[in-house]
Amino acid sequence: MTYDNHVLLIYTGGTIGMNRNPQTGALEPFNFEHLINNVPELSLFPIRISTIQFNPPIDSSDMSPQLWTELTHIIIDNYEKYDGFVILHGTDTMAYTASALSYMLGNLTKPVILTGSQLPIGQLRTDGKENLITSIEIAAAKHEDGKSMVPEVGIYFNGHLLRGNRTTKQSADEFDAFESFNYPHLVEAGVNITYHEEQILKPDFSKPISPHFRLDNNVIVFTIFPGIREDLVRHIIATPNLRSIVMRTYGSGNAPQRPWLLNALKEATNNGKIIINISQCMAGKVEMGRYDTGYQLKSAGVLSGYDSTVESAVTKLMYLQARFDDQDTIREYMRKSIRGEISC
Ligand code: ASP
Repeated sequence: MTYDNHVLLIYTGGTIGMNRNPQTGALEPFNFEHLINNVPELSLFPIRISTIQFNPPIDSSDMSPQLWTELTHIIIDNYEKYDGFVILHGTDTMAYTASALSYMLGNLTKPVILTGSQLPIGQLRTDGKENLITSIEIAAAKHEDGKSMVPEVGIYFNGHLLRGNRTTKQSADEFDAFESFNYPHLVEAGVNITYHEEQILKPDFSKPISPHFRLDNNVIVFTIFPGIREDLVRHIIATPNLRSIVMRTYGSGNAPQRPWLLNALKEATNNGKIIINISQCMAGKVEMGRYDTGYQLKSAGVLSGYDSTVESAVTKLMYLQARFDDQDTIREYMRKSIRGEISC
């Protein structure tokens, strides 16, 4: 067999590689050998696969900005040697990791595909095998001119490849665990693998990769709900060092018209804090001019998050805050798409 393409498989943990603890009955991260032994099909691939693993593997609930930096280092240190990267990851925070990597890997021209599964790979009905095998195939896929078919960070799950920074975990039980509600699928894998080229990013292949390793996590997410208390909102806003707030509003970006809320938000934005308005709805976008309740937020200095996911807004802020001290520069970048993350 000749191996034209070389993929690096990075195992971070997650259900895909877990095993049941005989004492507690709970699933725990398990070693990589166990995972690989359960997929003998990998040796039939005309693709060379090398592996790196987190030691110890983690449940993705323990994912952190430090580990995103580590993942970025792994990809950058191996960038020239490989045609594509597959990251095996727990589903719980996969959308956060995919979003963070999309910002940290500037000018990416190779595929970085995250996948995992809802059932461990050792179980008979596992969804892990198909997810893993197709992810590797997509990570290795190239056009005739040698350029990668998917030069961006994606999440592959249950037959679809989705843009990483557009994706949200939608189900804790179904195999169809992820969806990108505000952006079309990049690839469909049925009997054939169909690449929707018009949806896939087209980076400048002549430019080198430009990694960013630092993140600043002085950001918080809070959700508006009927009955939200003034003292608690004021407490959050007054947190020292807090630079930005992702505020999850109703519908097309609406919030209660209580004077205390609008005044508190106005004080925060006047003090330099960035407040991004993201809808609690999965699909659709924020339009602060549609209702008066949204218009008032705009007047208080709140910025539209357009059709961003929460995961993408939080990680974009972490990335921008580490790069820029000046809040106005961050505001400028939040108003535009830098990795295909919003439609504005
Ligand atoms: N708790 C697991 C994790 O995120 C769930 C999964 O992998 O699906 O690591």
